Amino acid sequence: METRKLDARIPSGPIEDQWDKLRFEMKLVNPANRRKHKIIVVGAGLAGAAASATLGQQGYHVHCFSYHDTPRRAHSIAAQGGINAAKNYRNDGDSIDRLFKDTVKGGDFRAREANVYRLAQISVHIIDQCVAQGVPFAREYGGLLDTRSFGGVQVQRTFYARGQTGQQLLLGAYQALQEQVAAGTVTMHTRCELVDVVIVDGRARGIITRNLMTGELERHAADVVVLATGGYSNAFYLSTNAKASNCTAIWRAHRRGALFANPCFTQIHPTCIPLSSEYQSKLTLMSESLRNDGRVWVPKKKADHRPAKDIPENERDYYLENRYPSFGNLVPRDVASRNAKEVCDEGRGVGPHGQGVYLDFADAIHRLGLPTVSDKYGNLFDIYQRITGEDAYQVPMRIYPAPHYTMGGLWVDYHLMTTITGLFAGGEANFSDHGANRLGASALMQGLADGYFVLPYTVPDYIASNRLEAVSVSHPAFAEAEAEVTDRFRALLSVKGKRSPDSFHKELGRIVWDDCGMARADAGLRKALEEIPRLREEFWHDLRVVGGMDELNQSLEKANRVSDFLELAELMCRDALDRTESCGGHFRVESQTPDGEAKRDDANFSYVAAWEWTGRGEPPALHKEPLAFEHVPLSQRSYK
Ligand SMILES: Cc1cc2nc3c(=O)[nH]c(=O)nc-3n(C[C@H](O)[C@H](O)[C@H](O)COP(=O)(O)OP(=O)(O)OC[C@H]3O[C@@H](n4cnc5c(N)ncnc54)[C@H](O)[C@@H]3O)c2cc1C
Repeated sequence: METRKLDARIPSGPIEDQWDKLRFEMKLVNPANRRKHKIIVVGAGLAGAAASATLGQQGYHVHCFSYHDTPRRAHSIAAQGGINAAKNYRNDGDSIDRLFKDTVKGGDFRAREANVYRLAQISVHIIDQCVAQGVPFAREYGGLLDTRSFGGVQVQRTFYARGQTGQQLLLGAYQALQEQVAAGTVTMHTRCELVDVVIVDGRARGIITRNLMTGELERHAADVVVLATGGYSNAFYLSTNAKASNCTAIWRAHRRGALFANPCFTQIHPTCIPLSSEYQSKLTLMSESLRNDGRVWVPKKKADHRPAKDIPENERDYYLENRYPSFGNLVPRDVASRNAKEVCDEGRGVGPHGQGVYLDFADAIHRLGLPTVSDKYGNLFDIYQRITGEDAYQVPMRIYPAPHYTMGGLWVDYHLMTTITGLFAGGEANFSDHGANRLGASALMQGLADGYFVLPYTVPDYIASNRLEAVSVSHPAFAEAEAEVTDRFRALLSVKGKRSPDSFHKELGRIVWDDCGMARADAGLRKALEEIPRLREEFWHDLRVVGGMDELNQSLEKANRVSDFLELAELMCRDALDRTESCGGHFRVESQTPDGEAKRDDANFSYVAAWEWTGRGEPPALHKEPLAFEHVPLSQRSYK
């Protein structure tokens, strides 16, 4: 199928007015006609639930899909630290302009300015919306909403609900969604997994799903399809994402013609609980908010195995505070992660495997008192205690970087439409706003901006601007897509080899982590690009999936998801190899400043890399969306 031209459709005029101007220019659908249109939203996390609830409230027929048993289990529930907004309640110099500039700079100048500006503008409305829903944000004594700091900025603009911000925001979105379910505008399809996107006459007109309880394949037709299916950090196998998070929805869309943008832009979060065993299948985040009060250090001496309390002050290296005096422990994530790796590589790491650095609260407890520290972060200390058996009020936490968030995703224009006409993508599933490094607390902001405030304008505009003939599920395109899915599942079941889907996933994760993780080098990436196809070959020859197709079969679900990761991972490495500059979280060892920071190559790489699927076994085609920086002048990022 033809993909649309890579036109970002950025409105003309001053950046401050672009969104308002477009909102006014966009077409509307008469309230009486809205109920004639059906919209599919895949995903019921923050982005999907917010979009479904809002479009439902507008009067459209929304069908919302999730492979979870309830929207409340979406991975968004795990978000801990907070959500950014340029409210400037603290009067500490914040503004829309500052949030915009911090985000462009934080993303190391690889994001689209117009989208980021809109995000900063919308941020202030998100907080009002959530407060109106009853989201219990932390408040100061006088009743004003409290804020705290996150990395890469010098103002306190992060709103939070203890260490459970995602949970509280998701409950707000969920209640708005349920209201529409009760009103009959939204139909929820839970335990129902998208396994393909259906294209009719060049437009996205439906999806094929698999009922996870019965195995039944189902066809769903609509006027528009929105994907809000989250990120793909689980390509690394070990990540902070929920175990079930996967790339199947966006990868299937990619294979149907949606370009995939910046697949190698992944975020390795600096503060996660270190891996403790070979058999571990999950890594746990300790929120970045802890860096507000926790101090990061390692021993000055190599292989110093003394307990932390026995290492005197003058033998400790508070390396972030020393190297980055302006931002200290609150440098952006990519910088903090790289520094942690560096000190561990030098042999100064702590903990059983030497893969850890301390995050120490002794000073904070001394300064603020234990009850205050517990009020702010208590649930995070509890999580840490349950996982490690250590009491972080008494001994410093041990942390190490882990895969966490994917800035890459489906390419979308300013309307959040992918290169498939009528297919939109919101939240972490798209690539839109964070460039090469996302600032902490900005994902919740983006997911809710997309869901509550952008898609509810752009999707109706698409409906109003196009003549969408009725399409039924008996159209041959649905039959073809369903047949392809059936063949695929049969193929997975018929290999009858010896290895479990998990064992392949684990091996894949190791390759991607080693060669396309925190540091990426030409030789390693080339090696990975040989190893991944070999592993994929082996997968299709030695996979063992127990059980059958027409039943609840988690082994089959996993196998299908892993087969997609095996393809996406190759694209991640290819993109990383192609981008020979370093930027943000993409650190090519060949491209460093003299003091070891990421060195961009603006002359050659100021673009979004958007990859096109050209067929199995064929090299993908690279399209480039040039990026212009007219409001935030290009500069070498410095947090010193
Ligand atoms: C541990 C952790 C803590 C975080 N803390 C913060 C924070 O403090 N602040 C912040 O800004 N960000 C944070 N983030 C990032 C943020 O949580 C996510 O980026 C964001 O919640 C993603 O929301 P989403 O709606 O895009 O996707 P998700 O919440 O992942 O939802 C995806 C939805 O899509 C559905 N789905 C996916 N694929 C399919 C399919 N094929 N078929 C059917 N349904 C499908 C799922 O069932 C789910 O409903 C954190 C991330 C992690 C991992």
